[in-house]
Amino acid sequence: MPKYAEVAVDCFINDPKGFGTFDYVIPEKMNDELKTGMRVVVPFAGRAKEGYIINIKDRSSVDLCKLKEVNYIPQFNDIFNERQLMLAKWMSRKYICPIIECLKCILPHEASMKEKKYVKLKDNVDIESLSLNSNEAEIVKSIKEKGGRILFDLLDDRQKRLVGKLQSAGIVALESIMKEGLKEKYIKGIRLKVKDPELSLLLHEMQKSKRVKLQVDLINLLNRLNKTVPERELTDGYKVSSSTINTLVRKGIADKVDIPVRRNPYDDSMFSKNAYPVLTDDQRNVINRILGEYYNHVSRNFLIHGVTGSGKTEVYMRLVEDIIKNGKQAIVLVPEISLTPQTIERFKGRFEKVAIIHSRLSAGEKYDEWKRIKQGKVDVVVGARSAVFAPFDNLGIIIIDEEQEDSYKSDMTPKYNAREIAYKRCEIENAMLVLGSATPSIDTFYDAQHGKYVICRMPKRVDNKKLPVIEVVDMRLEVESGNKTIFSRKLFREMKNSLHNGQQIILFLNRRGYSTFVSCRKCGMVIKCPRCDVSLTYHIDRNILNCHYCGYSMRPPDICPSCKSRYIKYFGIGTQKVESEVKKYFPEARVLRMDFDTTTKKGSHDRLYRAFKNREADILIGTQMVSKGLDFPGVSLVGIIAADLTLNIPDYRSSERSFTLITQVAGRAGRGEDPGKVIVQTYNPEHYSIVAAVNKDFIGFYNKEIKIRKALNYPPFSELINIVASSKNEKDAALMIKKIAYTIYEKFGMDEKRFVILGPSSAPISRINMYYRWQIILKGTFDDELKKQIKLIVNNFAMRTNSIRINIDIDPVSLT
Ligand SMILES: [Zn+2]
Ligand SMILES: [Zn+2]
Repeated sequence: MPKYAEVAVDCFINDPKGFGTFDYVIPEKMNDELKTGMRVVVPFAGRAKEGYIINIKDRSSVDLCKLKEVNYIPQFNDIFNERQLMLAKWMSRKYICPIIECLKCILPHEASMKEKKYVKLKDNVDIESLSLNSNEAEIVKSIKEKGGRILFDLLDDRQKRLVGKLQSAGIVALESIMKEGLKEKYIKGIRLKVKDPELSLLLHEMQKSKRVKLQVDLINLLNRLNKTVPERELTDGYKVSSSTINTLVRKGIADKVDIPVRRNPYDDSMFSKNAYPVLTDDQRNVINRILGEYYNHVSRNFLIHGVTGSGKTEVYMRLVEDIIKNGKQAIVLVPEISLTPQTIERFKGRFEKVAIIHSRLSAGEKYDEWKRIKQGKVDVVVGARSAVFAPFDNLGIIIIDEEQEDSYKSDMTPKYNAREIAYKRCEIENAMLVLGSATPSIDTFYDAQHGKYVICRMPKRVDNKKLPVIEVVDMRLEVESGNKTIFSRKLFREMKNSLHNGQQIILFLNRRGYSTFVSCRKCGMVIKCPRCDVSLTYHIDRNILNCHYCGYSMRPPDICPSCKSRYIKYFGIGTQKVESEVKKYFPEARVLRMDFDTTTKKGSHDRLYRAFKNREADILIGTQMVSKGLDFPGVSLVGIIAADLTLNIPDYRSSERSFTLITQVAGRAGRGEDPGKVIVQTYNPEHYSIVAAVNKDFIGFYNKEIKIRKALNYPPFSELINIVASSKNEKDAALMIKKIAYTIYEKFGMDEKRFVILGPSSAPISRINMYYRWQIILKGTFDDELKKQIKLIVNNFAMRTNSIRINIDIDPVSLT
């Protein structure tokens, strides 16, 4: 009886039930070799494709005659273990997406295989006897010259068409070979081939002649170093000439070999071992409690709620240390923008075998780090979202710092949330999960109060440093009293003070650019992106209007495109404007700006960070990039230029985001000897999120917010599913989402206890990059089966259109 392999194949297929797995017959010779999780190459739609074995079974529901055999097992085939497969299957159900999409999250893109297609001359064809025209003969000749096969992609279009003809005439065949996408990197090394006693005799002979002195020196050097030496080290370090090396190689005394090298993004010698600080009572208590409850099987999941500056990172490191001592491995997730040199230094300075994973690594660096982890050469991975999938064999702990961060949610299918993945992964691998934050998300805190996590509090700052004093300024009163600058009188005074005392200042504004919208004072027209439904932002450095959604840019017009008037005005402030205002009013201050625009070049983020740390500047202006993970002892004043920005975004989480952002930014102050001061400028001083942030009252904020969520039945009291249809034709998008809404309503929607459908309506950002967007939001409770049914409905519509994109987001973090 043949056995069958259920294989997840990387393909796009218009199959409404498409969960992306296909059955293949296992050839008898592979019977003993194949196992689940393995990479195989299978025939798929006339091509060779890589796939992963999800299941091995005795029966298939597909007719045997329709099934194909597994092609072969590639060399690098040991990919997924049982637990990773379990995780992928769970993801596939939770986020209702093909399992291959989930496997592709676990395996870095760089480790997948690429297809190479060859045109091959058939063996038994007598070319002379064929009547080929001159073009055909030319191709056959060139294939023959290349040893019988040639890369298909090297041919031009005309030749490719001819290959089709030659193929049907049975003269050539197409052959596809799968190759690993990325290779290990090698450098050339030199080693001695001749060993003692021959070597001594040889040297004895050579020393008689002065002409070969350089060669003798090199032999002695290699002999002394007694290893394979990189060629560069010999030429650059020891000043040996290439010709001397080559002569030894030619004479057969030495030879050249490949040395594999690791593409290491960091110079490890830079990191000096850091000292162990004395733990505070809070830190010691939390560590003891977590380890105690974990080892006594009381709980596996913890939430550390500790104020900014309470020393959470030190707690993380002690927990990691304990886990490593027990022979297990650790993953530490931090938001991408917190992966500062400081964070990296702390971990690299404490632990021997650390890998750092983030999006700024090159493909080669990522691949090498992934391989090192898989080969067991790493104990701790510190990284952004995708590091949650680090291929450890014996995972002991996952730590998620700033667990409330939106950046843990992926914006690519399957739109997973690393926090949910971590929870499931720890459950599967029986590992410890530790979430930490000064401002836990409403969802997590609610879960914690209902027993999902043990809450550990750290209410005090390290060394009993005080939390900064936060003061609110009502900007309406400033305007009334005639102050038209972006600085309130209070902030202005405090800035003068700080500069006078030689202290540093952070100014925070969560919007980049110079002016955030440009409009005509006569007719009121706002200049918008021609491709999106958003206003264009003015960037003074390049003198352009720029769209922050699609990247479109144009020169600012001198006259109104609508009414031709000359009254074009620039409104709204971005970080560039803050910078120019600072330079205007504080000409003596040295200023740095850290936002998306100043950190696009590799290394620029680190440079800005170090410059401010080394006190080469007095004022740091920035977007949310400066809101967390930064610890500058010189900063005594933080100014929040406009606290209302996040509040005005139409989203059920905008209050939560405002509270979090103010608290986090305020936390940058007073980390040195000076107790810090924070000035919050706002037009909504009475808003409960601002009041609570000023009073440092997380619990107060939580109690208010959770009541509102309950009243409106928003998460954590419900789940959301966001379905967006987008098309270049607005009517098509609207009609499609209406059809989907109607079908869902007809099938399930009568039962309002289960879920309700909000919309259909135009999405808050109604057009992005030429695509009009219409959406519905399903709000309620959904089990796996219900989600699957909804997905089937959507797939059914999706497979019948090419011009409309339909996107499903389970548990969206934002509804814009
Ligand atoms: Zn106008
Ligand atoms: Zn745009």
